Formats: sequence, C-alpha cells, structure tokens
Amino acid sequence: MRALVLPAVGAPLELVDRPVPEPGPGEARVRVQACGVCGSDLFLQKGGFGADKLPVVPGHEAAGVVDALGPGVSGLRVGDQVAIYYIDNPPDAPRPNLGPAVRRMGVDVDGAFAEYVVRPARTLIAPPKPVDPATLAVLTDAVGTPYHALVRIARVRPGETVAVLGVGGIGSNAVQIARALGARVVAVSRSEEKLALARELGAEAAVRMDEARDAIGSAGADVVVQCAESPALDEAAIALGGYGARIVLVGASVEPFAARSSDLIWRELAVMGSRGFTPDDIREVIDLHLAGRVRTDHLTAVQRPLEEGNDALEDLRAGRVLRSVLVP
Ligand SMILES: [Zn+2]
Repeated sequence: MRALVLPAVGAPLELVDRPVPEPGPGEARVRVQACGVCGSDLFLQKGGFGADKLPVVPGHEAAGVVDALGPGVSGLRVGDQVAIYYIDNPPDAPRPNLGPAVRRMGVDVDGAFAEYVVRPARTLIAPPKPVDPATLAVLTDAVGTPYHALVRIARVRPGETVAVLGVGGIGSNAVQIARALGARVVAVSRSEEKLALARELGAEAAVRMDEARDAIGSAGADVVVQCAESPALDEAAIALGGYGARIVLVGASVEPFAARSSDLIWRELAVMGSRGFTPDDIREVIDLHLAGRVRTDHLTAVQRPLEEGNDALEDLRAGRVLRSVLVP
C-alpha cells in the first residue's frame, strides 16, 4: 500500500510503499477513504510532539470502510463505514482522551495518511446512516474538538456570549456549534475572509481583535474559546472573559503565556484546557450533522490524493485552506 511518512522534524512527507498491515486480535483493518490534514499535523512536523515520535505516518482525522477483521472482534462487519477515534486508551483510563497510556494514531503510532490502517476495533464508530467520507473524517477532529470544548468543558448554556478566537479548522466549527447550542457568538480573526465565513456559520459579530471588546459588550464574554496556537491570544482570551467566565484553551502552544492571579481572582475566571474529543463527542456530532445542524462544506472543498500531502500541509501553513482532505 502507499503511505505518507514524516521522516524527521521539519522534513517533508515522503510517499512510500509498505505491506498492507494485518489486523491482530481485537483489531480491524480500515480502507481509508478520507483523512483530514490538520494544524496538529503541522505541529507534529515542527517537532511539537517531540522528535522521538518520528518517523511516523501522520493522519488522525479519518474515515473509511472496514476491510478485514482480526480474531475476536464483534459488533463490526467487513464493509461497514466507520469513523476512526484516533486514541487507543485502556478502559480504566481517567477519561477516554486522557491518561498515561494514551496512544494517538498519527502521533504515537502510524496514522491514516495511508491506504489502509489497522486499529483496535473498539475505536471505530459506525454512523447510523451513510455519511460522505470526507465529511465523516472531518466530523471527528475538526468538529469533535470544538464540540468537546464547548459541551463537555465549558458547558455552554443558551443565551451565553461565546467569543471564539481564531476562525480556522477548529474555530470555524466552534462558531457553528456554539450557535447550535443557543449561544450568542462573537468571532475574532485577522482575516476578512474568515470573518465572512464566521458570519455565515452563525456569528452575530465577526471582528478583528481591536474591536472584540466592543462587540462582546461591557460584561465580557461568558466563555472564550481560544483556538489559535498563540500565547498572545491565550492572554487576550483571559482579558476578554467577564465575571465568572470560562476560558477554554484549545489551540496548543508550547510557549508560555502571562496571567495575573489578581485578574483570575477578581473575575473568578476558570482557565481550562480542552484536549481533543471522545467517542461520545463523535457520535453526537454525527447526529448533529445528520440533523442538518453542522456544515462541513468549508472543510471538505479541497480534496487531494496522497501524492499531494505536502501541498496540503503548505496550503494549511499559508492559511489558504481551513482543511484539506486526503483521499487515498
Ligand atoms: Zn487534528
């Protein structure tokens, strides 16, 4: 099979030929139909997860069709369409997405920038109805990650004001999910094009950072979702929170940011991290999509063969796309 390998920090992806992997006990082989190219693939490439992770086949936002089953697998059949939950974690882990034994597809083990991938069968999620493969792929991470941040971590309630910083592959979907939850949404970006998209996706206001405070209002935001990899925006997120606000950090940066305890105390701010998503988040965003409440066309418009993996990374780095989807 063909696969894209990231050989070392800073290196381009290399297209290689590999044997088709065989599923072991409890595993299934998935013929990959679609895999999104995400900001965390850029983070991986620049060494954000550590140089010791490489070489690896990236790809953690994927969907496909079950192609072969290892011994002892029940509840799945060859030919089933599945979304892949990228984390393999023992059942006694503190949370499905956390714990010392988390193994991430596309970071810790080979991922889905490949024609086939073998995964633990329990990490595969069959949608209740057929879903377009590229859509099913991006529903996992691009939509599941902000869903997790807004629903599980921030617990957004109808009528709250949610500020979304950064309208990329994650932030754009934070906008539409916050809207679907009944929140008033203010989106913040430097890009006019992204601000226009945020309005289309349901933001009441979409503004540049210098206008954010006015757009949010004097009470400040109830929830700020920080989706960009930027310590300056981490600090801005704290500044925009009102009394009792929840500040949710989603865009991971390895650089520190400054915060004053007096700011956190006087406004009783909760600064929270939100890491990825869980299988339940995937199931719920699939249902939201099937109910017509979550769009993915802004994420799936650019589809490329594996050969163009480096172009997909470059498009993302240059801000020309929110996502590309590789279709092996
Ligand atoms: Zn991702």
